[in-house]
Amino acid sequence: MANKITIFDSTLRDGAQAEGISFSVEDKLKIVKTLDEFGVAYIEAGNPGSNPKDLEFFDRVKKIHLKNAKIAAFGSTRRRGISVEEDSNVQSLLTADTPVVVIFGKSWDFHVTDIIKTSLEENLEMIKETLRFFKEKGKEVIFDAEHFFDGYKANPDYAMAALAAAVEGGADCIVLCETNGGAFPDEVYEITKKVVETFKVPVGIHPHNDGGMAVANAIMAVKAGATHVQGTFIGFGERCGNVNLSTVIGNLQLKKKLECVPQEQMVNLTQTARRIAEIANVTLSDSMPYVGKSAFAHKGGMHIDGVSKASHSFEHVNPELVGNERRFLMSEVAGRSTILSKIQKVNPDVTKDSPETKLIIDRLKELEHLGYQFEGAESTFELIIRKQLGKYRPFFELDHFKIIGEHPAGNEDFSSSAMVKVKVDGKAEITAAEGDGPVNALDKALRKALEVFYPNLKDVHLTDYKVRVLDTKEATAAKVRVLIESTDGEDIWTTVGVSTDIIEASWIALVDSIEYKLIKDIEKKFKPYL
Ligand SMILES: [Zn+2]
Repeated sequence: MANKITIFDSTLRDGAQAEGISFSVEDKLKIVKTLDEFGVAYIEAGNPGSNPKDLEFFDRVKKIHLKNAKIAAFGSTRRRGISVEEDSNVQSLLTADTPVVVIFGKSWDFHVTDIIKTSLEENLEMIKETLRFFKEKGKEVIFDAEHFFDGYKANPDYAMAALAAAVEGGADCIVLCETNGGAFPDEVYEITKKVVETFKVPVGIHPHNDGGMAVANAIMAVKAGATHVQGTFIGFGERCGNVNLSTVIGNLQLKKKLECVPQEQMVNLTQTARRIAEIANVTLSDSMPYVGKSAFAHKGGMHIDGVSKASHSFEHVNPELVGNERRFLMSEVAGRSTILSKIQKVNPDVTKDSPETKLIIDRLKELEHLGYQFEGAESTFELIIRKQLGKYRPFFELDHFKIIGEHPAGNEDFSSSAMVKVKVDGKAEITAAEGDGPVNALDKALRKALEVFYPNLKDVHLTDYKVRVLDTKEATAAKVRVLIESTDGEDIWTTVGVSTDIIEASWIALVDSIEYKLIKDIEKKFKPYL
């Protein structure tokens, strides 16, 4: 076995096929930065020919300096019966201007004859010519052999001939796709082994999770000699999803000592998974291996007792290795060390036994019970700590606000306007603003009123707004959690609000965003004098 495994993330392409997932260009760029920082080697981002959104993405991603990852565009072999040069889909891949191109092609004879309806020979030509075309353009080319395992089981000679055509065309890596997701780990091992023994180029695996065995299949392929794993970081994808890379990386790097990402990045595994979930606006399963909230949560009394004496009595790895935390669900000390480190950022004199620590933990528990979650909202978290430590003062007082939503007759659009009255040091300010929706209007009106007193708020704008419905069981009284991301061009911060009323939840998050900015600027200004 090699001691390095190449991690290839397809969240932006295969992941985007999942039900309920839709990425904006902004979301995609954020995911790229997150994956790159974590140390993933390849990020696959779709086909620029498929829509203008993708074209904009490829244009903007070029301008980002990536430390670890290469961006790959993804497309099919040329269509049957035409030359590569004539194929507009192939040509459109070039417009992405990426260093890496992934070409998928058929390796199952049944798909060739019955689905794309061409001859077995023509399919091999399609693979070889398409790959050669991109190699001649100076690209690194990865070949994804679609349905390879089903194809091999049906007609091993033909499946191998498809790989040989790719190698002849100049493939830098041949990837065996377990497209239908139903193969067993022992089959994957046997078949991958044959491929590794036959070809000299690196071999990869691309498993889907329809049988619940994608991780096992990826691991077995690696055991058989594959050195490249394609999946999505937190496992979402069409149907039952792609292989979950956060689990694969945890297993290979910690248990098999195979380097998937730079070793010092392993402590960021949990944070990376949660950040991607937040950007994708999906709930990360609590029980997700390594990174889930409950992955190291102990509830039973005997288990807690055991873990307190020796953590490995009930834990397969130390949660700190992947940046997760041990939680004792019935105990008072839940997450104390993590919270303490955050408290000490505000006041280094506070210790774990200080009464303030208990006060803050109690307050956080109370808020979590109400539906707050601070994983993606560090700034609200910091404000709560400040409030409990007395390192906070309100910057303004709300007198009242009013929001009007209008749908004028004969007009296609809804419009919203907001009126806000605030007081700062007894001085009142009243303003109104229009916006693309009630929250946007409210944000504009509030900042306009406060800019009179705090001109530095002029630089602030919202970059993201996300709403998640909680308590889905009782739909009538459903609570919403609103996450707001703001920037002043220098920093980015995220705040959170929870309420049964979406406007109120947004207001709470908006106020936190503004207060965080004002505190941040004051601290910066006075730091040199402290
Ligand atoms: Zn796939």
